[in-house]
Amino acid sequence: MQTHSEANTLYTPLHRSIEINKIKGRYKGTAVENTSDLCLRPYCIKAANYLLESIDETINPCEKFYEFACGKYIKNAIILSESSEQSTMSQISKKLRYTIADLLSSNRTKKSKAITNARRLYSSCIDEGAIETEGVDVIMSMINKELGGWPVLQGSAWNESTFDFDRLMLKLSQYNSYIFYTVNTDVDEKNSSIRSIHAIEMVNNIRNIFITMVNQSTWMDSKSKIIAIKKARAMKAKLGYPDYLESDNMTKLDKDYAEYNFNLSYMPNVLSAIQLHSKASLQMLRYPIDSKQWTGISPTKINAMHRLLANEILFPAVILQTTLFDRDAPKYLNYGGIGFIMGHEIAHGFGDERKEYDLNGNEVLWWTNSTVNTFDIRKKCINEQYDNYTLTQVNHSINGRKTQNENVADDAGLKQAFFAYQQWAKTHKNVEKKLPGLSKYSAEQMFLLNFGHIWCTKITDESLHSNLVLAQHSPAQFRVRGPTSNFVEFDRVFGCKVGQGNSRVNKCNVW
Ligand SMILES: [Zn+2]
Repeated sequence: MQTHSEANTLYTPLHRSIEINKIKGRYKGTAVENTSDLCLRPYCIKAANYLLESIDETINPCEKFYEFACGKYIKNAIILSESSEQSTMSQISKKLRYTIADLLSSNRTKKSKAITNARRLYSSCIDEGAIETEGVDVIMSMINKELGGWPVLQGSAWNESTFDFDRLMLKLSQYNSYIFYTVNTDVDEKNSSIRSIHAIEMVNNIRNIFITMVNQSTWMDSKSKIIAIKKARAMKAKLGYPDYLESDNMTKLDKDYAEYNFNLSYMPNVLSAIQLHSKASLQMLRYPIDSKQWTGISPTKINAMHRLLANEILFPAVILQTTLFDRDAPKYLNYGGIGFIMGHEIAHGFGDERKEYDLNGNEVLWWTNSTVNTFDIRKKCINEQYDNYTLTQVNHSINGRKTQNENVADDAGLKQAFFAYQQWAKTHKNVEKKLPGLSKYSAEQMFLLNFGHIWCTKITDESLHSNLVLAQHSPAQFRVRGPTSNFVEFDRVFGCKVGQGNSRVNKCNVW
């Protein structure tokens, strides 16, 4: 099996070619770079590699910025038969799967029943021989005994007279499967308790920029501005994972998973896991809200989240890594990567659906009617902009209305992150070094290049079609083109003329 360390070898060839080019005194296509201006830390070499392997310099960024940032990446990407896309995000996901598989198959003993149990579940899952031998017996027996049978599967043996519909619904609900009604738990909409603020420097810098944007907005009235700023200040940020996972003390972990007892048979393990998970969700109703708890997203989820009822934003550990973030990365890369994601999630707290939740996540109407009306006019501009985009790969247009909340958040996210980086750079002059092979690009251009890179995607037609139907986000290329073409700073940074392919004349701005 391929391990995640093998995946890292992806970065070696460039390192080698940089060394060779150094000897020759030239980098590919560029004049000699002054090494004192270059960042030669291992992470910078790695970042230079992925960006050089991504950008297509034959394309004019003012015309097609996404193609400029991702052209080479897309050309060289290979969609394996078992997947539907290769993208920057799917590569993070792949690396994560290898890492988790390594952890679950390792024999390192940790005195934790929960971890031993997780490893047992994993080994039952990869034991394909045992799964084959077991066949469908476990499932069929569960359907017959617990669900009272199933007509399609039983044919003439099906006995309608013994069938109990209510019992079936109850049983399905225990397996977290609700057909006619749904039951789940979340924070009470009218009374959620305020949780403690935990944020890092970057989130706070971006939040401060958002507050400035609210203050400077010409379309919000002062009453709505005051409430919006209070809400932005109170928004809690959670990063990485719940605090209790940081210590070696496994008491809480073992307590949370005390009822899970896996054996070596995969299917019974899965059925029991579904039941216990469903029960745990319902039990949340009985317990007070734990402010440190992570709800709705796990540390291994490659995503970020805004929870409107809690007025909080969450950034799982797995998203805080290459190419979105690294401790050793120049700030222009981090702000263009995770900074954009942070700005996007902050903006969700002030989007269309969210206007009726206040700083504590409680339901009230806190925007004035005139502010709501002006917001709607601005949003309409963005809707029409995206409605006019066509995915040439499948010759299909985008639904601006369906994706509107995400498009508005993308637009705001890019601006917040960019201005937050500018602010940071003002107080940290001459700190940021350039990347080898990319020294002709300014820090602001590099910010935009990394922003473009995080969305590089090669995807199958089938997958693109189903995304168009199901997804709330615009396809990757428009998550880059939409916000950059509305941004005057993009034009300035790349020296674009308004009206070029990647620069709209009528720039839509909500924030
Ligand atoms: Zn979003």
